[in-house]
Amino acid sequence: MKMFINGQRRDASDGRTIDVLNSATLEFIDTIPFATKADIEEAIAAAKEGAKIWGSMACHERSAILFKAADMIDARREELARSLSTEMGKIISEARPEIRVAAQIIRGYAEKANHLYGETLTDYQVGTEKDIVFTRHEPLGVVACITPFNYPVELCSQKYAAALAAGNAVIIKPATDNPLTIMKVIEILWQAGVPGNVLQLITGSGSEIGDILTASPDINAIALTGSTEVGLHVAEVGARTLKKVFLELGGNDPYIVFDDADFELAVTGAVRGRCQNAGQTCCSPKRFLVQNSIKDAFIKRAIEQIEALVHGSPLDDATEFGSLISEKACKKVDEQVKLTIAQGGRLICGGKPISATYYEPTIIDTPADADISKDMECFGPVLPIIGFDTEEEAIAISNQTMYGLQAGVITKDMNKALRVASKLECGGVVINQSGNYRHLDQAFGGWKMSGVGREGVSITLEEMTQVKSYVLRNILQ
Ligand code: NAD
Repeated sequence: MKMFINGQRRDASDGRTIDVLNSATLEFIDTIPFATKADIEEAIAAAKEGAKIWGSMACHERSAILFKAADMIDARREELARSLSTEMGKIISEARPEIRVAAQIIRGYAEKANHLYGETLTDYQVGTEKDIVFTRHEPLGVVACITPFNYPVELCSQKYAAALAAGNAVIIKPATDNPLTIMKVIEILWQAGVPGNVLQLITGSGSEIGDILTASPDINAIALTGSTEVGLHVAEVGARTLKKVFLELGGNDPYIVFDDADFELAVTGAVRGRCQNAGQTCCSPKRFLVQNSIKDAFIKRAIEQIEALVHGSPLDDATEFGSLISEKACKKVDEQVKLTIAQGGRLICGGKPISATYYEPTIIDTPADADISKDMECFGPVLPIIGFDTEEEAIAISNQTMYGLQAGVITKDMNKALRVASKLECGGVVINQSGNYRHLDQAFGGWKMSGVGREGVSITLEEMTQVKSYVLRNILQ
């Protein structure tokens, strides 16, 4: 597929390309351009012009275009879901909701934009009695949206839809392994009427071309979802031009199971929460803290549930477990499993690749001081089970990480659930299910090294604007 630059479908100016493979089968699907510096600079220059046109268009006109795009995405849901499933090995029963959610996100921001008001100040300050001071939310200008591979359509939509609804021009840099479906979505937005210099998309390796966007003084904000390592780099480069930087980063979320929990619910939440998207979800439970009195029974039932998972083609409705994004990702999970075993973990089941990109769902009885119990985020179907005795111990292990995205607390005692939740250093706690949850309006995001800011329809639209004060001095004569 070609890039979207200044209203045209474009190859890289030097013709360089990258292959996109089907993650499940490693078959070739298509190529994408590897943008050059000149391509990106052209997109930035076009976006500056686009921002002027789009930012001065009436809000209801912009929203009408976005509503139309959402309807068009809904109409093509099955085709887009199959494309998503094919390029990344996400099972089709998870790909369909991702496309549905993308359309909902677009509608959510378009609706909210129609009702984003400024304020009129009071005259409580002596000397301002005859003044009127009011504010308006005005666009930031050009927003770069840099997005990860794991929910390539949903997470990208959270960014471009907010930015567009607020009146900004957008340049998207999707993940390199699986950009094809989001490119089809951007084509739909163009067809719905978003001008070609208002919404653009460039492709290429983030580590090689990312700085051109991040460092540009003509990019007014960067919205990145990705790893903490990349987030830190983008924050550093972005700071040099004092642009707004929104960061949604990695996690190593605890899932705390007390012995008074609904046992079946606790095990199902663990296995399903971890194996969704083959373990490649930022807020999936990644450390399983299980009270020692039920730990053996928990492990036994988790093995049974893992063995019952239906493997097969991601495009088959019955399949419950998909592939990892790439061979490299699969090798990394394997290395992390081996390291955990070397650090005292006892392998219970799994522990090796099934094929180049499929990894066996794996349970490891894990000591609390292993890397995986602290700062090592594992993006695969791996359940490290960490025993604990007391509530205080569970809280301490949960918080012994640089991350702080979400958490799950499983107990029938609601006082205990809320008491523990209040002590967890993270952005959200799910009671009686895994933290693998995101309401579209939720102010989603993390503490500590899991990010800066929050993202969701309730909050991001406003963040994609700047507040301007209009002062009418001595107007009340
Ligand atoms: P990644 O950090 O490797 O890449 C994310 C994006 O950044 C990609 O588009 C990549 O090309 C780009 N990029 C890479 N180097 C760059 C640079 N120097 N400058 C600018 N852009 C650059 O992440 P990934 O592997 O695609 O996604 C997995 C990670 O994302 C995990 O850590 C996961 O926890 C995190 N994540 C977080 C959330 C959240 O909401 N907090 C959601 C999903 C994923």
